[in-house]
Amino acid sequence: MNHVETLENHINGKWLAPASGKYLEDHAPATGQQIALIPRSTEEDVIQAVAAAKKAGPGWAALPKEKRADWLDRIADTLEECRDEIAQLESIDTGKPISIAKSVDANRSVANFRFYADLIRNLEDQEFRMQDATNRVLRRAVGVGVLITPWNLPLYLLSWKVAPAIGMGNTVVCKPSELTPLTADLLMRVIEKVGLPAGVVNLVHGTGSQAGAPLVEHEDVRFVSFTGGTATGAMVARAAAGSFKKLSLELGGKNSTIILDDCDLDRHMDAIVRASYLNQGQVCLCGSRILVHSSIKETFTRRFVDTVEHLRIGDPSDDSTDLGSLISKEHLNKVQSYVSLAIEEGGELLTGGDKPCLPQTFEGGNWITPVVIDGLATNSRCSTEEIFGPMVTLHSFDSDEEAIRIANETRYGLAGSVWTTDLERGEHIAHRLDTGMVWVNTWLHRDLRVPFGGVKDSGLGREGGQWSLGFYSEATNICIMNEK
Ligand code: NDP
Repeated sequence: MNHVETLENHINGKWLAPASGKYLEDHAPATGQQIALIPRSTEEDVIQAVAAAKKAGPGWAALPKEKRADWLDRIADTLEECRDEIAQLESIDTGKPISIAKSVDANRSVANFRFYADLIRNLEDQEFRMQDATNRVLRRAVGVGVLITPWNLPLYLLSWKVAPAIGMGNTVVCKPSELTPLTADLLMRVIEKVGLPAGVVNLVHGTGSQAGAPLVEHEDVRFVSFTGGTATGAMVARAAAGSFKKLSLELGGKNSTIILDDCDLDRHMDAIVRASYLNQGQVCLCGSRILVHSSIKETFTRRFVDTVEHLRIGDPSDDSTDLGSLISKEHLNKVQSYVSLAIEEGGELLTGGDKPCLPQTFEGGNWITPVVIDGLATNSRCSTEEIFGPMVTLHSFDSDEEAIRIANETRYGLAGSVWTTDLERGEHIAHRLDTGMVWVNTWLHRDLRVPFGGVKDSGLGREGGQWSLGFYSEATNICIMNEK
């Protein structure tokens, strides 16, 4: 992308300029260069978008589910043709390495539509027979929904919401992060190309306060699926509560990576480093606090730091790059402030925290080398607060009980991982972690059928597989008395 593109909202099947006539700048995080202008939408645009979704609702909900599944497949087919474009746009807009944009973002965005097409096509109404009556449980559309997404996995997360939401007969308004608007725009181009009925999916760009908040508050909106930070999630929950909107909140995390004394470091070190720094640590599931059994702490630390120092940081468009830039200057400042805090809190900086030496093109980008901190108390701010960047703290433990206690002592409860050659012991620990998800000897190994979500301050509800179908529908029971 060499020129500055002006994007528009997509409402009722049409590209529309914002009512305010004002636009926001979108910058490439790796270079600081302006790459697009996006609508600074306000309540007026929101009202139009919700009205379009409401108007399209009854016709769309009345379609047989098989027909809606066919639409999802058509979107998947056309997205698949754009796989390279998705990866390029996502890499430019987020600063992530192209290899990740291809293997994670582009692939998963296509897979989400395909997966839900299959699941919904094969969905059957449930039946519960009594001696004298039959209960039939139908899944009906909820109505107009709002889908709000963050900047770290833009199309991956948006497609994960759009596909089950419209597949179950709802119509939606999407509000992507203002920092990463490009692939939401691409999705609307795809939707236009396949000819999806107008108003089924609408897109409103803009800020959380000016576009997101009025969407959540709108009285015709019946459900909100939100992925983002815990503080924002609390605001969204408060705004949605008054009108009893259905709510799904996928929020922040501070996930522990537990390395037991029998962990096969030769086999797993690369995966443990990946779990710490994928997407520059900007994945809600990243293991940012590593708990290592004291008997192997020294060996682990030496090998971990060595592997981290060999990660290739630089040009996101280069296939061999492991780490790109952070999303924004503001976020870089936040991560740097946590590095300073770690030292103030008594930690030892083992590696990272510098600006990497890169070609002139990347001078205006948001760069930092991956950070490893040792020696902090397990209840220090750096080891309990979500940093959401390439920064990991190392801690030791002496028993499985102690590892479980440390892992559970944060306000978050999204995910965790356990690394051991004794699978039974690993699973036993997994059972006792207070999180929505735990991996044993792997990380971010996702089966789209399984539930996704967190406990405590990491969120409310589950999406994924049948859980998404449950959230994006209303179960209605019809009890029919048998004839004598
Ligand atoms: P934010 O919470 O800042 O923003 C998320 C989205 O909410 C953005 O589109 C934002 O708009 C919008 N928003 C902001 N304020 C409001 C409001 N008052 N009403 C409605 N919408 C609003 O999160 P980030 O974008 O910074 O993403 C990072 C966070 O997301 C991390 O905490 C991370 O852990 C979490 N996350 C959780 C995941 C999970 O599945 N649990 C997965 C991925 C990320 P804008 O930014 O444009 O102003």
